[in-house]
Amino acid sequence: MAKRLEKNTQISLIRRRLHQWFLKKKRSFPWREKKTPYRVWISEIMLQQTRSEVVVAYFNRWMRLFPSIESLAKAPLDQILKTWEGLGYYQRARNIHQAAHIIVEKYQGVFPQGEKLKDLPGVGRYTYGAITLFGWEKRAVAIDANVFRVMIRFLGIREEGSRSVAYDKAEKFLETFLCAKRPWLTNEALIELGALMCITSQPFCSLCPLRLVCYAFIHDCVVDYPKKKNPKKVYFLKRAVAVVLHKNKLLVLQNKQGLFADLYQFPYIDLDNTGQENPEKVLQKRFPFLFLQPLRVVEHSFTQYRVTLVPFLFETKEERILHDYKWEEIERLRHLPFCSGHRQIFHQIDEELSLLF
Ligand code: SF4
Repeated sequence: MAKRLEKNTQISLIRRRLHQWFLKKKRSFPWREKKTPYRVWISEIMLQQTRSEVVVAYFNRWMRLFPSIESLAKAPLDQILKTWEGLGYYQRARNIHQAAHIIVEKYQGVFPQGEKLKDLPGVGRYTYGAITLFGWEKRAVAIDANVFRVMIRFLGIREEGSRSVAYDKAEKFLETFLCAKRPWLTNEALIELGALMCITSQPFCSLCPLRLVCYAFIHDCVVDYPKKKNPKKVYFLKRAVAVVLHKNKLLVLQNKQGLFADLYQFPYIDLDNTGQENPEKVLQKRFPFLFLQPLRVVEHSFTQYRVTLVPFLFETKEERILHDYKWEEIERLRHLPFCSGHRQIFHQIDEELSLLF
């Protein structure tokens, strides 16, 4: 494919058109201003699972709280997770915290490059490329989902083999396609092109600066690229949640491991999905507390799970210790990180209690 382009067109002309399009159409984001390896790193990790528009507020708050790697390394993990609350995939935040400690302790606070950068927790192939390109303005290739989709279509890469074979083909092409003087400009333009023009369904080919040499456009087969994936099975869960109040404290559990490690949640019991079980009675059997009132039902999702939380407010006169649960003051809970659905319940209870007491 690269040979076809070399023969039939001038790569530099296509690249120039791509650059011109990008410089004219690029969106303005805080991480695109004052680029440093630290700012690029944080933004790229946040952007891995979240839309750019949502990341803006998180990024700005993060930079206000942790303006440097040193301030990040000094902050307690609870504060890091609280700042990350709502972004999901919390392992990313834990990796950032761990990497900040390594950078401060091993590299005296100076962001590492090359192999040392690759060794930091949570820095994969893409993040390495992005930090090297945008943070250090050095040559590398950064292929995120947007660039991958553009490349699959532009080069007509069939994904019959493994995804990594297709990725290697895209990477090989980009190694020569990226501008010699400003490789970050070409790479960032491709990221933006994938986000704005070469979108998953119905890309805007007629306005695309690559259309004259795009394999999928020329062969009128854009819909065939990339190959459609089988949709993931979705699981539905229903949980009865006990919010137990004792004076100014609530009963909570801090997860020790798994997807929600270090995050807080209220006691809950899984219900069957038949709708036959009475959630309040199920809870009272396990947690014999004084029932106060039902709370608003909360719906939330994580990975392939859709969860319905049915919460109830209970009260107890004694500060009893229950399994791994502990009593935490409401004021302190305001600063602790919660699992997403339980955070919504906590906000609700925070409001309710301000009316009750
Ligand atoms: S011409 Fe269409 S399919 Fe090809 S890169 Fe542009 S937007 Fe994507």
